[in-house]
Amino acid sequence: MSCFSYENFRSFHGEIFENLRIPALIYVLPPWRTTTFKYPPAGVTLWNRGTVKFSTLASCFERLEATSSRNEMTTLIARLLAGTSPDDIAIVCYFTLGMIAPGYSGIVPGIGERTAAAAIAIAAGVDLKVVDSVARELGDYGDAAASLAGGAPGALTVRDVHRGFLAIARASGPGSADRKVQTLAEMLAAATPPERRYLVRLATGEMRLGAGDMTLLDALAEAFLGSKAARPPLEHAYNISSDIGLVARTLQESGLPGVRAIPVTLHRPIRPMLTQRVSRISDIPERIGSSTIAVEEKYDGERIQAHKDGDDVTLFSRRLTDVTHQYPDIARHIRQHVTADTAILDGEAVAFDHETGTYQPFQTLMRRRRKYQVSEVARDIPATYRVFDLLYADGESYLRRNYPERRARLEEVLIPDERISPTGRTLTGDLDGIVEFYLTCIERGLEGIVCKSCAEDSFYRAGAREWQWIKWKSDYGTDLVDTLDLVVVGASAGRGKRAGTYGSLLCAAYSPGEDIFQTVCGLGTGFTDVDLADLPQRFAGLRVDRQPARVMVTPQAVPDFWFAPVRVVEVLGSEITESPVHTCNWDPERRRGLALRFPRFVRWRDERSAEAATTTTEVAEMFRRRREG
Ligand code: ATP
Repeated sequence: MSCFSYENFRSFHGEIFENLRIPALIYVLPPWRTTTFKYPPAGVTLWNRGTVKFSTLASCFERLEATSSRNEMTTLIARLLAGTSPDDIAIVCYFTLGMIAPGYSGIVPGIGERTAAAAIAIAAGVDLKVVDSVARELGDYGDAAASLAGGAPGALTVRDVHRGFLAIARASGPGSADRKVQTLAEMLAAATPPERRYLVRLATGEMRLGAGDMTLLDALAEAFLGSKAARPPLEHAYNISSDIGLVARTLQESGLPGVRAIPVTLHRPIRPMLTQRVSRISDIPERIGSSTIAVEEKYDGERIQAHKDGDDVTLFSRRLTDVTHQYPDIARHIRQHVTADTAILDGEAVAFDHETGTYQPFQTLMRRRRKYQVSEVARDIPATYRVFDLLYADGESYLRRNYPERRARLEEVLIPDERISPTGRTLTGDLDGIVEFYLTCIERGLEGIVCKSCAEDSFYRAGAREWQWIKWKSDYGTDLVDTLDLVVVGASAGRGKRAGTYGSLLCAAYSPGEDIFQTVCGLGTGFTDVDLADLPQRFAGLRVDRQPARVMVTPQAVPDFWFAPVRVVEVLGSEITESPVHTCNWDPERRRGLALRFPRFVRWRDERSAEAATTTTEVAEMFRRRREG
């Protein structure tokens, strides 16, 4: 619970007083009295339904951009949310994350730079060339929109803006490109300069405020439950709904009991449970800590969460985007082979050669990632769905059932054939059993194994990476440590041969507890000339003026350019060492963190969110294991 004097309270809610229909007097406490309360104080409704001005949001966004402290960022968002009505709070959450709807819905404005430039030109009444040259000078179309004169600023509300973006997102068919330009231009013409900046950034998907899902959840906890420490139930609700807007609105309307009651819902994805890794296969039994271990085949394909609602099937990717159109064959197999009327399954889509009976590599499956001629390619590259979990069946959530129960139910509801079946597996109690099964998997061309706990409490932990699931892959046996997925947070200027591009990229691991990114290496090798030439374009929309609030660096590692922590890169390294330069697992007393030595670029992981990068704990674990030999 936070302590606030009347003065603090006034400054806290000052900017929303203008939006309140309820007389502000009711908030006035005797000035001599200091009081302690949660927001809103018991019995007081702080909001006026549906009138948050977009300008209030824009000025908060300006302050968010100016802060270099993650805590301050959380508090600024908490203040904003505390003064927002239940009708608007979901929209405010989406906008703060740079979206207009929950990520899984696929609803995005889809406005490219050219469309944005055209809309800015119309709103400002200038030639397109002027817009382009101002944007070049300022480095960003949002800033260009802010600096060019607009029409007559009106009183845009967040709801107006949301309606406008939904109309843009839904526009399709002949003339839709013009309608999109026109709608954006109308909003820009009614906006103040800061509003225009954020309208353009929302439109082009380049918000770059640096707030992540966990920052928002902390802010919600701070605003409505008194402290960030109250985040876990909110996080749980988010993990099973993947919709922060829903969690926020429910919290404001129905409090924690309402949030706790948010159900698993068909066609709304559950955030996937993730696997841990060890550096020695012999560590698995002890780490997993259950007397019986299920050792499952590990496939190199695409993770797919399938929702079946009668004949209606929706498929979600690992990043929870709707990929149903990409896998019409898998949707069909699910309709035909899953006997439960409603079900949510978790599994892997793998390219499979039915003639030779062999699994094909991930790259083969990725040839199916396309918008057109999907059915033809599906015929050429058939996919098989290997199901490893059941999360829901016939109206009932299985998240709080242990793995053996979930697996038993999965086997009941799935009629297997070679196009869809539960994962192959064995049950064992010791290392020999694990190694034996692993070797048979490798012989059959599989990638490795995933060991799963069969303990009483082996529940499905949505969104978590814990020791209940441990992977072991064939490429772990080399001298090199496993690859790391790191977030690029900055870069040095390219010199000599690299003039015009970047020299090296500053890469960071993610610390989920603190919701920050801590640096672990500078990455300058492994790039082809084409990769290097592509870097400026790849990071064009992500350059920010100052150190992002959630990024922690030492003075020695400060880069020439900062990037919003968004892009993930896969890196191979040879060793983890202690370092005074990098902040990964920073020890403030010894003033040392952990660094990855001799990092090499492997590939971009565009399908991965920054928060799904390798964690600082994983890096610490690699370091510990290596040191112990
Ligand atoms: P992660 O998903 O753990 O962040 P990643 O995308 O790099 O990492 P891997 O390290 O190859 O993937 O391993 C984890 C992934 O393996 C899972 O997300 C899932 O897609 C896939 N997988 C394949 N077979 C299984 C299985 N039997 N059980 C669980 N996951 C499996």
